[in-house]
Amino acid sequence: MKYDIAIVGGGPAGMSAALFLKGAGLNVILINSEKSQLKSAWLDNYLGLEEISGPELLEKIKNQLKSREISLLNDEVTDIKRNNKDFSVEMVNNPPIVASRILLASGQKSGLKIAEKLGLSLIENNEPYVKLKVEVDTEYQTSHQDVYACGTLVGVSSQAIIAAGNGAQVALNIISKLSGKRVHHHKTLA
Ligand SMILES: Cc1cc2nc3c(=O)[nH]c(=O)nc-3n(C[C@H](O)[C@H](O)[C@H](O)COP(=O)(O)OP(=O)(O)OC[C@H]3O[C@@H](n4cnc5c(N)ncnc54)[C@H](O)[C@@H]3O)c2cc1C
Repeated sequence: MKYDIAIVGGGPAGMSAALFLKGAGLNVILINSEKSQLKSAWLDNYLGLEEISGPELLEKIKNQLKSREISLLNDEVTDIKRNNKDFSVEMVNNPPIVASRILLASGQKSGLKIAEKLGLSLIENNEPYVKLKVEVDTEYQTSHQDVYACGTLVGVSSQAIIAAGNGAQVALNIISKLSGKRVHHHKTLA
């Protein structure tokens, strides 16, 4: 099976992007090594939630994705190779999968490794704790065609709601590019 898009990383950025991409009818797979920074966070600033632990928020979002039938793989991506127009995504424990495009949402620190392995352009970042980010264009495409990036990996402020919002924005950019016009995902109250 070939996926329209493979997302690497399942923190708030990657999971938010997955929700929007699947909502637009794309065949999405999200591969996550389960080391989101949220695992050690206690949040009192996530809109709509009074207070919540990071692990509880991650679980809620993961269940939301499962209910939308988004393919989730618990694994670490070790390499991504381009075969003609497609990508082969290699992992530690699963056979490679094929996708037409890649969205990196692998976060900071060890999350930068896969970007380095791909040879993406990395630039200085002016945020606390986060000194490097992946360089992207205005559509959040990286220096490699059809490889996009979002979340703290591209240097947004390290706040869960900002990472989630950025994942949604990048997903809408990709959907809009595929549709040939700007799109939103709105539903009207019945
Ligand atoms: C101690 C602490 C407290 C915090 N408190 C708050 C707070 O109160 N409020 C707030 O808003 N924010 C808080 N944050 C920040 C928040 O957690 C981050 O901003 C947010 O998680 C970033 O989201 P992200 O999706 O960009 O990256 P992450 O959440 O880090 O997700 C990246 C994901 O990519 C995966 N990944 C990386 N490489 C690979 C690979 N090769 N293959 C597969 N998967 C991969 C990782 O396992 C991880 O699951 C806190 C962070 C910390 C560390």
